[in-house]
Formats: sequence, structure tokens, C-alpha cells
Amino acid sequence: MRHDSILILDFGSQYSHLIARRIRELGVYCELHACTRSREAIQEMQPKGIILSGGPYSVYQNDAPHAGEDVWKSGLPVLGVCYGLQEMALHFGGRVDAGERREYGHAELNIKESAGLFDNLPDSIQVWMSHGDKVQELPKGFRDIASTSNSEHAAVGIPEHNLFGIQFHPEVSHTPQGKTILKNFVAGVCRCKADWSMGSFINESIDRIRKEVGDGIVIGAISGGVDSSVAAVLLHRAIGDRFHGFLVDNGVLRLNEAAQVMERLKKKLGINLTLLDAGQAFLGRLQNVSDPEKKRKIIGHTFIEIFEEEARKIGGAEFLLQGTLYPDVIESISFKGPSATIKTHHNVGGLLEDMKLKLIEPLRELFKDEVRQLGLELGLDEESVYRHPFPGPGLAIRILGDVTEERLGILRQADAVYIEEIKKAGLYRDIGQAFAVLLPVKSVGVMGDCRTYEQVIALRAVQTTDYMTADWFPMPDAVLRTAANRIINEVRGVNRVVYDISSKPPSTIEWE
Ligand code: GLN
Repeated sequence: MRHDSILILDFGSQYSHLIARRIRELGVYCELHACTRSREAIQEMQPKGIILSGGPYSVYQNDAPHAGEDVWKSGLPVLGVCYGLQEMALHFGGRVDAGERREYGHAELNIKESAGLFDNLPDSIQVWMSHGDKVQELPKGFRDIASTSNSEHAAVGIPEHNLFGIQFHPEVSHTPQGKTILKNFVAGVCRCKADWSMGSFINESIDRIRKEVGDGIVIGAISGGVDSSVAAVLLHRAIGDRFHGFLVDNGVLRLNEAAQVMERLKKKLGINLTLLDAGQAFLGRLQNVSDPEKKRKIIGHTFIEIFEEEARKIGGAEFLLQGTLYPDVIESISFKGPSATIKTHHNVGGLLEDMKLKLIEPLRELFKDEVRQLGLELGLDEESVYRHPFPGPGLAIRILGDVTEERLGILRQADAVYIEEIKKAGLYRDIGQAFAVLLPVKSVGVMGDCRTYEQVIALRAVQTTDYMTADWFPMPDAVLRTAANRIINEVRGVNRVVYDISSKPPSTIEWE
């Protein structure tokens, strides 16, 4: 089934993806495409309206990107946001110049004409601005439909032709009624039905995978994290055992982790998943390595070797599954290029080239919380869906200093106790990431009247929305007390536990 849809053309704004997200929250299907793809995207999607995003360029620069004739010839409703407004003004013969001063932050928008974009809104609303250029002269036929004290052309258009441009950003949360404005455009002006949901996403993406793969074979490395698990479930639903997943046990996973992932994905959900027990290879190469960057490199390279070797054994594989999410796609879209260049996971770049594998990325339109919702709808258990992120180099970068079997054993147990106590207290989902770290120092203690000289465990927990910045989590005393007690009593070799109270930045979430 084809949904009513909105095409968003990306001119490189850091908020373009938020436009997509808001529209999807309205239940309307939309896609974000590089502005250079307007012709193809209009043909493929047959959208009911087009939104031009903001962007860092100035429309009057020589190398500034433009929307392309197809947008204007399509006769579709168009909403230009910031750069998009300036692009629209330029195209229809208006004048855009550098403003006298940059305008960044809140502004009060006075609405003159509400029919169309500003239906169901008061006469004056808060909006958020971020621009340096200004529409100086309106194109013929255009009129001001709202203004601020600083810009008389804060919103312009020819409402009867469904053309609108706004200087402010409706997609950011600093424009509290922005969603109403987007809804007015999408549902009111473009008349899109709100018929998009996660359920329809599942069916459509299964169809799409089947079409794309035909009777081919897909391989993929599964970590057990939410993205790769959800992607694997989708592939399994679409093509059954023609999807071959591999879980590489690199010897630095957490307590019982590989077994749990196999149980959840293979046993319960029937995914064709092979466990590659490669711990010895990894640990052998990690011997006497204490430099964190070296650890990361060794683990990365060994992973590629092992995955490649197994992947080649599957005869005739043509496709490689990647759990790429929307933010990864956005980050790597080059809007100046003739087509979007997509970042390939560095881990498997070689495979793609040598084996000429094509990428399958069923989650590339979704945000993290949408992937979680999808996972739940696909029948994945909550543990997998809400699992904290876990780094590729695993416990190797949570053991400061040399990684040995003995030290791994200590950290595994301490970490398991800590996470168990957090879950018992019902705090796991309030925390962005929690884990234990084994320090490379010993300290003095006393146990049963004897002096001990043993290792130190640091506990870390952070709260964060995007993992770019993070605050230390104010863990309740009782949880810290029980966790510390249990670790010192139950984990041989530890006589001291400390709690990490540093934020990111200047610290990082992981210790190495
Ligand atoms: N670069 C343009 C300006 O400074 C557009 C900015 C934007 O789209 N946020 O006005």
C-alpha cells in the first residue's frame, strides 16, 4: 500500500532529521533525501508535498545547493524552512542578502494571516530562529503572513498556491507550537492521511526486503544489542533461514552474554544464528597489551578476520545486513554530491569490496526509540530492547591494564552483581549506561583481622539522551551500599569499590 507522503529535501541543516521525526509523529510517512535528488525522489515517492530544510549555505553563493526545477514544476505544496524559505524567495525572483546582524534564539511571531499554515494558533507565538541571511525583497505575488520585530518576512507565501516559507524552525522544541504548524502544512495544506504506524512499517519493510533480496542470501554480524537484534528479527521474518547471522564471542563479553543472546534470538525467535567461539584468538592477541587504542585495534581487526572467514564459507551470499539507524544516515549524507554517500560500517568495509556485497539496512529510516518500539512489536523481549549500549571492544576496555582470564572473571562477576542490583531497584531504564570497571591498582584492606592487598572496582552509571554528553547518575545510597557489599563479599580479589562521579565532558562514559 502506498501512503500519502511528504518529501523533505535536505540542504544540510543539523535539524533536518527533526522535521522527519515530527512528521512521522503525526502519523504521516515521510522521507528525507539529499536536495540533489529531488527529481528521483519525487518520481519514486510521488509525495503530496515537499519541505525544503534549512542549511548552512547562503543561497546567493556560487556553490550553494538548489532545489531543482522538478520541485517547482511539480505543482505540489512547498514549505521552505529557513534556507528553504530563502531558496524559495530566490527562485521566484525575490532578493536575499546577508542580514545586518545574525538572529539566533527566541522571537515572538505575530501572525497576520492564519489560513493555511497558522490555523488553530493564537495571534502571537514563540518561535526559534537561527539565521544570518534575510529575504530583503519578496518575490512577486508573495505576501507576509507573519512577522517578528526583527524580520518583517518571518513567514511568507502565496497560500492559495500552497507555497509557504518560514524563517524560523518549527521542528525544534524551542518552537513549542511548531508541531501544529507542521500539522497544518502536512494534513491541512497537503491533505495527507495520517495512516503511518510501526505496524505498517513492519509489513512494508518485509515486502521491501523480499523484493530486494529475491532468492538471495544475506549475512550479518549480530552483537545482541538492540539495533542488530531488531534488524535480524526483521530479516528472519522476511526471508527465514536465507539470513545467516553470526555472533562473535570475542572472549570479552559479559557474564553468560553469548549464551543469553543465542537463547533469545536463536532458540526463542528461531533466527539462523551461529555462535563463533573465538575468545582464545582474541585473548591471545591481547596478552600484555595495556594501551586502550591498541586493544581497540586488535579487537577490531580480529573481529573482521573471523567474521570474514565465516562469511566466505556461506556460499553465494550477496547481501550484508547492517543495523544502520537514521541518525547515522543523516550524519553521512553529503548533500552536495550527486547522490547520497552512506557511511559503511568500518568493521566490514573490506567484505563489501571483496565479496561485492550489497548493504541491507532495514532500520535506516528509524530513530533509536522507534527501533525499540519496533523490537517490541516484533516480539523481542524487553531485556534486549532496552539493553544499555555495550562497546565493541567489550570488557577489554573496562579492564584498565592487561586483560587476563583472571581479571575478566573478576570484572564479569562484579558487573553482574551491580547490574542485578540496579534492576532490582527498578532503575535500569532510568540509566543510559551502567557498568563496572576494574582498575589497575591494588589497595590495602582488612578482612577477618588480616591485611589484604587487592583490586579496586569502580562503578559507573550515567544519564544521557544522546550519549554525546552525559551526567553521572545520582545512584541511591541503598543500591550503592548493597552492590558494594555484595561485590566485596562475593567477588574474590576485590576489597574496595568506588563510584565514579564525573560527567561527560570532560570525562568520557567508558574509561578507555
Ligand atoms: N545559511 C542561511 C542563513 O544563515 C540559512 C540558515 C538556516 O537554514 N538555518 O540565513
